[in-house]
Amino acid sequence: MHNAAFAALGLDWRYLAFEVAPDNLRAAIEGAKVMGFAGLNLTVPHKLLAVTMVDALDESARVWGAVNTVRFEGRTANSGWLPPGHFDKDPPVETRTVGFNTDADALVNSLREDLQLELSGKKVLLLGAGGAGRTAALRLAAENVSALFLVNRTFSKILEIQHEIRQKFPAVYVGLDYPTPPHSEIDLILNATSLGLKSDDPLPLDEKLFSLKQTAAVYDMIYRPAATPLLQAAHAAGCRTANGLGMLLHQGAKAFEIWTGQPAPLAVMRQALEQNIYGR
Ligand code: NAP
Repeated sequence: MHNAAFAALGLDWRYLAFEVAPDNLRAAIEGAKVMGFAGLNLTVPHKLLAVTMVDALDESARVWGAVNTVRFEGRTANSGWLPPGHFDKDPPVETRTVGFNTDADALVNSLREDLQLELSGKKVLLLGAGGAGRTAALRLAAENVSALFLVNRTFSKILEIQHEIRQKFPAVYVGLDYPTPPHSEIDLILNATSLGLKSDDPLPLDEKLFSLKQTAAVYDMIYRPAATPLLQAAHAAGCRTANGLGMLLHQGAKAFEIWTGQPAPLAVMRQALEQNIYGR
């Protein structure tokens, strides 16, 4: 999606993928900086590690505690810190790395756009508490959901998230299990587990403990396959459904704007994603 967007805007930029072992992350970030990269995206398992490896944190990375986007900024003898693209004539005397998080807002944008869901006052069951689940829980709490029910295979992770939300967003009720009366009807089930990536995965939801008939909508962060077994079952149960493609799109679009300083061509990026991921 980034290369399609660069082409659409006539930018002679390239987006490339590199596999980096966690032990080499610091060296990889420094290497990209000295080679004159404009920025980086980071994915599993680097997002938490990078928080301590950048020179400065944008508010987004500080609040959500994870970095998925890095921008390399430069300073000339006469200027403050400037984003990439300002140093064609006058090379910077110093460069620094700034960490951002574009995942958290992307989820809210996608829920709004793809499920027509405004989160304030809503009740949400969140499945999964890995990197994406933790960020989602905090971001949903910041949107003033009324109740958040957390379920995860490893209980200690949801206990930590509950503690963090109680400190930062005390008005939000956080339960550590499936909703029970008086919360029999909820607005959203959000899957942030990796169950559904593989065709023989079990459902991330225990339907004996909570039925899909008890929720209005289901969002699955997984976007490949397009319709996970959870989304298929939710559709059959009459729920509104959406997969994680919109989230992927919006985190990328925001990163594009952070690097280039230009509005992201969203339609071009969405089409490139759909073509590359679904072949359509
Ligand atoms: P992660 O940190 O590895 O977390 C994985 C989560 O899945 C944890 O909650 C883990 O539970 C749970 N899980 C894994 N295997 C399980 C199993 N066999 N039974 C029960 N639970 C299991 O990964 P992540 O970065 O949070 O990503 C989670 C999902 O979101 C992935 O599918 C990823 O593709 C998707 N995602 C999508 C986007 C997007 O843009 N659409 C962005 C980020 C992530 P434990 O805590 O017990 O290990």
